[in-house]
Amino acid sequence: AGKVEFRDVHFSYDPNRKILKGVSFEVPAGKTVAIVGPSGAGKSTISRLLFRFYDVQAGQVLIDGQDIRDVTQESLRAVLGMVPQDTVLFNDTIAYNIRYGRVGAGEEEVRKAAELAQIGPFIAKLPDGYRSMVGERGLKLSGGEKQRVAIARTILKAPPILMLDEATSALDTQTEQEIQAALDLVSKGRTTIVIAHRLSTVISADEIIVLKDGQIAERGTHAALLGKR
Ligand code: ADP
Ligand code: ADP
Repeated sequence: AGKVEFRDVHFSYDPNRKILKGVSFEVPAGKTVAIVGPSGAGKSTISRLLFRFYDVQAGQVLIDGQDIRDVTQESLRAVLGMVPQDTVLFNDTIAYNIRYGRVGAGEEEVRKAAELAQIGPFIAKLPDGYRSMVGERGLKLSGGEKQRVAIARTILKAPPILMLDEATSALDTQTEQEIQAALDLVSKGRTTIVIAHRLSTVISADEIIVLKDGQIAERGTHAALLGKR
């Protein structure tokens, strides 16, 4: 399970300016579709519509053939995971921040997820900027380490559908490669939508959609799209 479909989706934040102008694509269960395109093209809007932060004005967003307006917010959230560009951590331990992926997960599961995401040694610490009740300062986490917290959270949640919205674009090249490798492991076998600004970061996607000005300008595999250039 986990097929995602956008059918002729139209959307605008305000009536004078159309953001998505008839966007249709399908992500078969377990496959990866990348959405690339210039800043302002409407890429993150697609993510917000899938999470139902907003509703489409025309067309449909479907998961496994069901219009997402017909499912509860709770069950929608249960099947969706997200790694955003900048992960914001709550004022609690890293372990708590990971457990947020699946409230009720056991300590051992949290520890395992942290180890898989390679932040095991940090889990008892508070994030940067916070201070414990006994006055202990939070740990300064790098951008890559914060993304590892988000990855551990996703490992724990194990959602069938995963949205990666510019998840590596705030990182330096070396860290980007490391986090990309971790994300590749997490997205394996899950329906994955990758939002990226560069074609070179989404080489292995099953399909790449190039979004320009709210419309799909091109689509195909990485090789096919490069061949056209
Ligand atoms: P991308 O992710 O491709 O950079 P977005 O989907 O974030 O593009 O945004 C598409 C357009 O919608 C942009 O021009 C942006 O300024 C505008 N936009 C985004 N969010 C809002 C909002 N909440 N209200 C009004 N306009 C918005
Ligand atoms: P943007 O795409 O510009 O970051 P959004 O309005 O989509 O803006 O999201 C604002 C912030 O909320 C994101 O930066 C991210 O940290 C967080 N966020 C967005 N979607 C989710 C989600 N589905 N689950 C958890 N956090 C999210």
